[in-house]
Amino acid sequence: VNRIVVKIGTSSLIHPNGKVNLDGIDQLAFVLTDLRNKGKEVILVSSGAIGVGMDKLRIAERPKEIPVQQAVAAVGQSELMHIYNQRFLGYSQQTAQVLLTRDVVDFPESRRNVINTLEQLMAMDILPIINENDTVAVDEMDHTRKFGDNDELSAIVAQLMNADVLIMLSDIDGFYSANPSEDKQAVLYSTVSTINQTLMDQAGGNGSRFGTGGMISKLKAAQRILDAKSAMVLANGKPPRIIFDILAGVEVGTLFKEG
Ligand code: ADP
Repeated sequence: VNRIVVKIGTSSLIHPNGKVNLDGIDQLAFVLTDLRNKGKEVILVSSGAIGVGMDKLRIAERPKEIPVQQAVAAVGQSELMHIYNQRFLGYSQQTAQVLLTRDVVDFPESRRNVINTLEQLMAMDILPIINENDTVAVDEMDHTRKFGDNDELSAIVAQLMNADVLIMLSDIDGFYSANPSEDKQAVLYSTVSTINQTLMDQAGGNGSRFGTGGMISKLKAAQRILDAKSAMVLANGKPPRIIFDILAGVEVGTLFKEG
């Protein structure tokens, strides 16, 4: 494995009390820098802009109106990058902010520009930190799509950059036969090779309180990865050191890969 895309969800970046998980972010910076130093190419896709913005502006309840969410995300995005910059610099790793929309892949020119920029950043030993450009990316027509969720974007980036693996870090150990917070009988899938309606139904229900995408958007991401004949691992991002285990081949989380 040489090229890795890591996606970290809001639930791993924000504590249940609404405070930013600075220790988690620091560990993530340590792990990703270590991988860089070992010659891996690493791209981080990070959610959390709304959560960080809520913490900064001292807003307790996630706003319902889209324009308010966008405003809070705009505040949180620069604060989030500030935190990442600081933590990564602690390990002497430079970072760059890249804001994308999902349709970049639909237009040859924007597609080429994104690839060129990301390739160049990695060649310069700068770690790209990607988020969706929340100011422009709202899709009012698509109600299955939740605002601020980067699951599918991370799969699009992994596909675009021919990544060997997409590591998706969430607040849950992997994909279960039912939402474990509602069904104590739920069992963890260690591998999934095709995504069918049964699995989509098992992913039903909403995400956690602070998360946004829930499991359905993670399965949609996995579908893209499977279509591209690549691999995705969904695992618990607490602690981020789990990335070392995943890359070492330890069986943790759920591996999505063609059989
Ligand atoms: P993140 O913020 O990391 O993207 P989300 O909160 O959006 O995470 O999604 C993870 C949540 O999805 C879990 O905490 C769990 O409550 C929920 N979930 C629903 N169905 C399942 C399932 N079948 N297996 C695992 N988690 C599920």
